[in-house]
Amino acid sequence: MNSYEDEFRNYLKENGLKFTPERQLILKGVFSLHKHFDIDQLWEKLHRKDRRLSRATIYRTLPLLVECNLIQETLRCQGRVQYEHIFGHEHHDHLVCLKCGKIIESREERIEKLQEEICKRYHFKAVEHRLGIRGYCQKCQNKMKGT
Ligand SMILES: [Zn+2]
Ligand SMILES: [Zn+2]
Ligand SMILES: [Zn+2]
Repeated sequence: MNSYEDEFRNYLKENGLKFTPERQLILKGVFSLHKHFDIDQLWEKLHRKDRRLSRATIYRTLPLLVECNLIQETLRCQGRVQYEHIFGHEHHDHLVCLKCGKIIESREERIEKLQEEICKRYHFKAVEHRLGIRGYCQKCQNKMKGT
């Protein structure tokens, strides 16, 4: 199996793009984060390593990683777009707290299976799906009750 670096290199090559040191740094950074992250968090982390790296470069690079199926956008919450790497990870769905931004990951075979059945019914070949539930986590619910 290819490494994420091979995947990205091949993708760039096919699209006539170069594997620049900046792109390499961003790729490594993305795979060193094991939680959901947004662009600011990634930039803060990487900027410490390379002061020349700009947010704009990150903005331009993340869509390439999405395109290449290495990362995905999770839910948009509180106006922020969160990403996570998916290469080498099992598919899962998200529950997002609107108040504190907490993200719970879950995988439910019955839901996955149902979706396959729906696709079959419409002779539809699925490539991806995203299930997200927005709401309030237990802690925030308790806080809301308490006040
Ligand atoms: Zn799912
Ligand atoms: Zn919460
Ligand atoms: Zn996730």
